[in-house]
Amino acid sequence: MNKEYDKEYYKSNKPKIQEQNKKYRETNREKMNEKEKNYRESNREKINAKLKCECGCEVMKRHLKKHQATKKHLDKVKNIDSSVQ
Ligand SMILES: [Zn+2]
Repeated sequence: MNKEYDKEYYKSNKPKIQEQNKKYRETNREKMNEKEKNYRESNREKINAKLKCECGCEVMKRHLKKHQATKKHLDKVKNIDSSVQ
């Protein structure tokens, strides 16, 4: 199957394909939600895992990047830097 054919096929069947996609999403919505819920539950610890930032704060791993951009973090790091010298 070549790309051109795919494109043509998609173009002439767009409403049909969109309808199919919509149906798929609707029939699988619960399944997908369930899957996501299971993922969150089985990875809760991983998702909420905290680690110690270089500034001494305990931060959720997924918030680390955001935390490192906060004034609180930057101030602390600045203080650590100046006390080391
Ligand atoms: Zn920090």
